[in-house]
Amino acid sequence: MPSPIYLLYSLPFTAYHLPYRCRPISIYFVHEGKGMIFRTSRPVNLTTALLVGLLLACSTMQEAKPPNGAAVHHLVILHTNDTHGHPAKFFKYPAPDVGGLAARATIVQRTKGQNKNVLVLDAGDINTGRPESNLFKARPDIEGFNYIGYDAMAIGNHEFDNAPEVLKEQMKLANFPFLSANVRTTQGELLTLPYIIKEFDGFKVAIFGVTTKETEFLAHPDNIRGLVFQDEVEVAKKLVPALRKQADAVIALAHLGIYNSSELGSKRLASEVSGIDLIVDGHSHTKLDAPIVITHPESGHKTLIVQAWKWGLILGRVDLFIQEKRVIDYKFEAIPINLKGVEKRADGAVAYHVIGEQIPEDPELMSLMKPYVDGARILLSKVVGQAEETFFYNGVRKRETALGDLVADSMLWYTKYLGVDFALQNGGGIRADLPKGPITQRSMHEVLPFGNSVVVLTLDGATVQSLFDFIGSISRGQGAFPQVSAGVSITLNTLTKKCENIMINGEPLDPGRTYKVATNSYLAAGGDGYRMLLKALHRYDSSASLRDVVIEYIEHLGGTVKPRISGRINFIDKRTQSESMQEAA
Ligand SMILES: [Zn+2]
Repeated sequence: MPSPIYLLYSLPFTAYHLPYRCRPISIYFVHEGKGMIFRTSRPVNLTTALLVGLLLACSTMQEAKPPNGAAVHHLVILHTNDTHGHPAKFFKYPAPDVGGLAARATIVQRTKGQNKNVLVLDAGDINTGRPESNLFKARPDIEGFNYIGYDAMAIGNHEFDNAPEVLKEQMKLANFPFLSANVRTTQGELLTLPYIIKEFDGFKVAIFGVTTKETEFLAHPDNIRGLVFQDEVEVAKKLVPALRKQADAVIALAHLGIYNSSELGSKRLASEVSGIDLIVDGHSHTKLDAPIVITHPESGHKTLIVQAWKWGLILGRVDLFIQEKRVIDYKFEAIPINLKGVEKRADGAVAYHVIGEQIPEDPELMSLMKPYVDGARILLSKVVGQAEETFFYNGVRKRETALGDLVADSMLWYTKYLGVDFALQNGGGIRADLPKGPITQRSMHEVLPFGNSVVVLTLDGATVQSLFDFIGSISRGQGAFPQVSAGVSITLNTLTKKCENIMINGEPLDPGRTYKVATNSYLAAGGDGYRMLLKALHRYDSSASLRDVVIEYIEHLGGTVKPRISGRINFIDKRTQSESMQEAA
C-alpha cells in the first residue's frame, strides 16, 4: 500500500525580495520516508508548482524505496567579510549613518531568536579602515564581534597590516578563533587554529580557514617575516576529506576572492577541491545577488560561494538544508545594513530612503563603541601637513591640475612596491580646494569626500589601449576627465576625440605587455564610464582610504607641499586657452 505523500514546504530559490509567485520553486516530498526535491528551472506560480510536484510525486510512487527517515537539518549562516575597521555607523557618500556593528547585532540576535542552528562567520580583513578602528588597532571591531557572538573569523591579508604582536593581541582579545589552515612558521607550525567543528542539534559542521597566498607580497615584509603561506588548494585537498569524515557539512572560511577567472581565488578552490559545501569568501569585496555554484568536474560535488561586499554594508545569510551529509537545498539573502538610496527632489534638495528595513541599533553595543568614536573625532582636527599655496579644485575636469597630480602621485607612491606603472584619478572625485596653510584630516575629507580605497588592477595592453581610447572620448568638463600620475604623458586631440602620443614611463604604450594601474575603488568598479577596467586580469583592493594615502604621501614629502604641474596632459584643441566648455554637473 502506498504510504502518504507529505508536501513539506516550498522554498524560494534565491532572493527573498522577488514577489513570491515569480520565484523558481523547490518542492520537498517525503515519500516512503525518503526526502525528495524538485526544483523548477524557471519562475512559476504556486499552483503550478503544487500540480507539477504532485504529478512528480505520483510518478515516483511506482518505485518505492526503503524508508530511512533521514532528518533534514536546517543551518543558518550569517556572514561578513572585509569589514575593514567600520565598527560604528558611518557616512558613505552621499548618505549618512550606514552600516555599523550595532545594527548588525540586532539582525544576528533576531536570527538567533528565530532559528536553532545559527553560525556567525567573518571571512577576514577586520583591520584597516576608519580612524575609530585604526587608532585603536581594531579593538572596537573585535569587542563588537565578541558582543555579537561570532563563531570564527578567517585571517585575511590585512591582519598583517600591523606588527605580529598586534595580531597576537587581537587574537587574545577575541572570544572566537582566527582560522587559517595554510599559514605556518618556517618551522612548520601553524600560526593559528586551522579549523573548528561546531556541534548543532543532531549534526556537526566543520569550518576551516584559508588565507590568500597573495599575502606574501601584499603584506609588509616585516609583518610576515618567518611565515610561509602555503598554496590554498594543496592544503584544502588534504584537509577536506578528513573533515568530511567528522562532520555533516564542510564550510571554507576563505579570504581568497572571486575573480573572472576560475583559476584564481575561491572559484579555483571549489573547482579543484571536492567536498566543500560552502565557501564563505572575502578579499575581492564582491557584492552578490545569488551564490556562485561550482560543480567539481570529477566528483560532481556542488560548492556554493558567497561573499558579502565590504565594510559591513550587508550581512549575508545562507540557509543550508542538510540531509545525510549532503546539502539538498539552500537559500541566500543579502541583508542591507541601513544602506540608503538617494534621490534629488525637484527643488534640488537631496532625500534618502533606507533600502530594506530601518534596523534599530543595539544600545548596549553603541555605548561600547562610543569612546572609540569620540577618540577618532579628535583626530580629524589634527594638522597633518602644510600647503604653501592653495591647490585649486577648479579645472580638475578640464586639464591637468596640481591637486589631481598630487592625488594620482599619492596612489602611485603608495602602490609602487606592487610594481604599479601609473595611477589614474577621475577629476569628478575631487570636490574642493586644498587651501593654503595647515592641512587636516577634515580638509582632506572635503577634497576627497567619497571614501574610496586605492585599488591595483592588472590590465592587458589591449585594455590599457581601450582605457586611453575612452579617455580620448571624454569631453572636457565631464567628471570622468582624468588626472594622471607621474610617468604618464598623453595628448588629447579634442578635434578627433583621440588620445595620442601615449607615453608610459618613457616608453610608448605596448599593447603586447600587461600593466599595473592604481586607481580609486570607484573607477576600478567601472564608474564614470571606465567600464574597461572591469576586464582587469587581477584586482587588489588595498583597502587603504585614498584620503589617508594622500596624507601619508604628504608626510612622506616632508609635510609641506607646493602646487605645480608637469605637462602630463597636453591638448590639440583650438579652444585650449579659452576654457569655454561648460562644467558638467
Ligand atoms: Zn583582503
